[in-house]
Amino acid sequence: MMGTIAAGLAHEIKNPLGGIKGAAQLLARESSSSESSECLQIIIKETDRVDRLVSRLLSFSRPRSLSLTPLNLNELLDSLLLLQAGPIGEKKIRVIRKFDPSLPPVLGDADELKQVFLNFLKNAIEAIPNGGGEIRLTSRLVTDFKIKEASGKASRMIAAEILDSGVGISKEDQTKVFTPFFTTKESGYGLGLAFAQRAIHEHGGSIRLTSEKSHGT
Ligand code: ADP
Ligand code: MG
Repeated sequence: MMGTIAAGLAHEIKNPLGGIKGAAQLLARESSSSESSECLQIIIKETDRVDRLVSRLLSFSRPRSLSLTPLNLNELLDSLLLLQAGPIGEKKIRVIRKFDPSLPPVLGDADELKQVFLNFLKNAIEAIPNGGGEIRLTSRLVTDFKIKEASGKASRMIAAEILDSGVGISKEDQTKVFTPFFTTKESGYGLGLAFAQRAIHEHGGSIRLTSEKSHGT
């Protein structure tokens, strides 16, 4: 329901926004005073910002169907580490990988799961102060717990952990981080964990958060 409302609202915003931007661009082309063209540039820049936000909201609320293929979780995590090598290096973050090499493949939607774990990894990197820190990635086969499938048969489960030595999350905020648009970052959108939680549930998985303020997550 929320998704449908969000998508409807987003469309209602995008159309008039396009009109505002187009009109401002037209005026900017004809404007001769530097003061008014400065104002028009602000209008154009800010409409772009709202447009980006609405696009994110749309891609968040769009109903999708999963396309499941067998995946190697270790390879997926490694590809994300490579993708984030820049920020990891800049912040002098030590990465420790403890992957179970005998992990069986899991059925998952590659694009969705990449986005999910990228969101976790990015949050971990962003949580670490510039002085440096540590991110620990582990993967393992869970032996003491099995998920009951809809068919009634129990299936094996794989667990991945992303631990960081960053700023941590207060007890109060821990109850809010999965809520869409909850963010403590100046340029954050607050959609990363909300998306991740939903995608994981759609995969029949579960997600758990443990964090301690000033110690890590
Ligand atoms: P965003 O990163 O855009 O703020 P997210 O949904 O990814 O949105 O995260 C929501 C909020 O949860 C963040 O703003 C931050 O306060 C908190 N958070 C998430 N992951 C971590 C982490 N690893 N360490 C500290 N805080 C975190
Ligand atoms: Mg995030």
